[in-house]
Amino acid sequence: MQLSARVQRIDASGIRRIFDLARSCRDPIDLSIGQPDFPIAEPVKAAAIAAIQGDRNGYTQTQGLAELRALCLAEERAHTGRSWKDDEILITSGVSGGLFLALLALVEDGSEALIPDPYFVSYLHLVRLFGGTPVLIDTYGSDFLPTPEAIARAITPRTRVLLLNSPANPTGRIIPEALLREIAAVCTKHGIVIVSDEIYRAFAYDGAAPSISRYHEETVVLVGHSKSQAMTGWRLGYACGPRPLIQAMTKVQQYSFVCAPSLAQYAALACPAVDRRADIAAYRARRDLMRGLLSPPLRIAPADGAFYLWIEAPAGMTGTAFAERAIAANCLIIPGSVFSARDSHVRVCYTTSTERLRAGAAILLRIAQQSVVER
Ligand code: PMP
Repeated sequence: MQLSARVQRIDASGIRRIFDLARSCRDPIDLSIGQPDFPIAEPVKAAAIAAIQGDRNGYTQTQGLAELRALCLAEERAHTGRSWKDDEILITSGVSGGLFLALLALVEDGSEALIPDPYFVSYLHLVRLFGGTPVLIDTYGSDFLPTPEAIARAITPRTRVLLLNSPANPTGRIIPEALLREIAAVCTKHGIVIVSDEIYRAFAYDGAAPSISRYHEETVVLVGHSKSQAMTGWRLGYACGPRPLIQAMTKVQQYSFVCAPSLAQYAALACPAVDRRADIAAYRARRDLMRGLLSPPLRIAPADGAFYLWIEAPAGMTGTAFAERAIAANCLIIPGSVFSARDSHVRVCYTTSTERLRAGAAILLRIAQQSVVER
């Protein structure tokens, strides 16, 4: 069968090899999956069940339920201070749906998208799928924060978008407000749209995660319920951005996703009543526990938010070798090469019980100690 050149431009080989290795593990300590371990809150479950049983199972408007849009606009005003209008929001099928539609609308053959490295894998593949060229901005020398100088250096007449993710997967970094202002100034000067993936913004452990939308007019903010409400399987999120972009995304949603899942939309109306502070505090404690156990001897990037540790492999070892040894010892972690052009780190997710985290940390420490002996 002749598949389109477009789909052949992307592949899934990096992560597949790790999944193949992981299949041989029995009841592994899984520090690889990027999803919360707390359940969906009871009122949210009840709202979904009530919607199903009340026969509210039809399509919603393409742009999402009016009541939910109003809630999300209020959330944006509260979090970023920015007042988007009702035609500047689209309820999407997760942040993945928002990324897909935003990049489809912004990227085309010959255009370039700036992506700080390490990055969330989808960014690279979606840009390629839509004919663009991902231009990586290495952040290893700046503690995994993109600098305005590096961004300015990477800009060409073909640059259309900058993809930002703060708090970040896989590094856990949050871009501080002052830096966001400087990045915004560079993008404003060069007319570059910022796609701001804020899916982890509820997971900021040492103060709030600021949004660049406050400083850059042409920003599309992507927010999701997957992580903040543990609704990963329900596929819900939203995009706020300039009207022409949201209208273009809505047009394509009409012919593709049609609408975000209706039951998830009805359920999300109950989200404002949910208090997640205890869950966030528990994740902060797990971050502290893992950081305390692992560093030193391992080196960890400042873990400001999200729920990942970005850990440098022991000296003389690649990230892939470190991950392979951990998996052989029954602890699943992901090599940094899945998220980066470099292969020097691993990603460890700490959304699991403290007993399992301790057991996983012990395995990682043992590998680090063995590596010293071997050298
Ligand atoms: N962006 C980032 C940075 C992520 O880590 C994820 C999920 N791992 C997504 C987007 C997609 O999330 P969803 O589609 O479930 O909202």
